[in-house]
Amino acid sequence: MAIIDTPQWKYLNRILSRKGPFADDDYDNEMQKTFLEHTKVFGAGGLGCEILKNLALSGFKDIHVIDMDTIDVSNLNRQFLFRASDVGKPKATVAASFVMSRVKGITITPYYGAIQDKDQDYYMQFKIIICGLDSVEARRWINATLVDMVDINRPESLKPLIDGGTEGFKGQSRVILPTLSSCYECSLDMLTPQTAVPICTLATIPRQPAHCVEWASILEWPRIFKDKKLDNDDPGHVQWIYEQALKRAQEFNISGVTYSLTQGVIKNIIPAIASTNAIIAASCCNEALKIATGANPFLNNYMMYTGDESVYTHTFEHEKKDGCPVCGDLASDYMVNPEWTLQEFIDRLKEKPEVQIKKPTMVTERRKLYYQGPPQLNEQTRPNLVKKMKDLVDNGEEIAITDPGLPFSLRLNVIFS
Ligand SMILES: [Zn+2]
Repeated sequence: MAIIDTPQWKYLNRILSRKGPFADDDYDNEMQKTFLEHTKVFGAGGLGCEILKNLALSGFKDIHVIDMDTIDVSNLNRQFLFRASDVGKPKATVAASFVMSRVKGITITPYYGAIQDKDQDYYMQFKIIICGLDSVEARRWINATLVDMVDINRPESLKPLIDGGTEGFKGQSRVILPTLSSCYECSLDMLTPQTAVPICTLATIPRQPAHCVEWASILEWPRIFKDKKLDNDDPGHVQWIYEQALKRAQEFNISGVTYSLTQGVIKNIIPAIASTNAIIAASCCNEALKIATGANPFLNNYMMYTGDESVYTHTFEHEKKDGCPVCGDLASDYMVNPEWTLQEFIDRLKEKPEVQIKKPTMVTERRKLYYQGPPQLNEQTRPNLVKKMKDLVDNGEEIAITDPGLPFSLRLNVIFS
């Protein structure tokens, strides 16, 4: 008897025993049984708890979960699988045993560590990968790994990736079919950059709204108020910073400085909101159920949700990006001022949301531009940092960039402006 024939699963059975109005013509009730196979969940954080619980209650029987965090007391308000006595224990292990004790007949295999600890053979065993990760780096890694695993002669090597993410009252869920649809890397420019801004940029020419806020809080506040410490929780202080940032932004013709941006930048935190997590996790698991059973067509391919100004969702097809460094195969063009020094070029790259690098090593076909290490190579290439781009590369020349944060090597065609 299949697990879902028992009374515990009567609602699920009801969904699966009737064909959805948009399901494929050859939808067959028996297919419902195949969906109880391997599935993988990533992250047992805010999204992880929700995803794990939803998958278990949707009838997935064999779930693997990876998380590298331990339980902190501040998690307890929303990560409902954890209790005060669990503080300090690995999230993956505690979440797995809690859900197994409540939902009978399923197996959850926890792993306490990083997703990067596992290799392609490990990921090959699963049918669906669901990510509720909060780190851009980890999501880029799993995305690049799954794209790389696709072997056109082996259809089963293509693992649908369901990616869910939240940021305060906003969130998104998406279905990525590696190599076929737009991938995580294709949409990296939709993220807000998180890299630190050099003080000189703040002091001289701000380029982004966040620069203006940082200018006001890092440089202007201490100049005006001397020894008074900026209190991020004092609305009067935040208001003052906001007003200064707004003035500066207007001076440099930059739009986008708002009170809530100011708050976000100076607090440098993204609040986790339980309801957003629940909604996004539900959407992800709904997609997993549809992919696994074929009961209805799955999301094509991006759903965004906003809950701060009423409740709004929008679904659209995010398109593959030409020259995506992961799922495309061409180097992308990059405009470079020939008068920039290599250091300036690197600083600007670091600010690019679609690049997101921290410690790049750069080479061209004919020369080593800059090496982070080993020490001899770093020493040998460091003088290049003050040289001008026009003296280091030719117009149209390709630069290959590797970085600890990049799961692949990025190729850029230098186009002199
Ligand atoms: Zn891509």
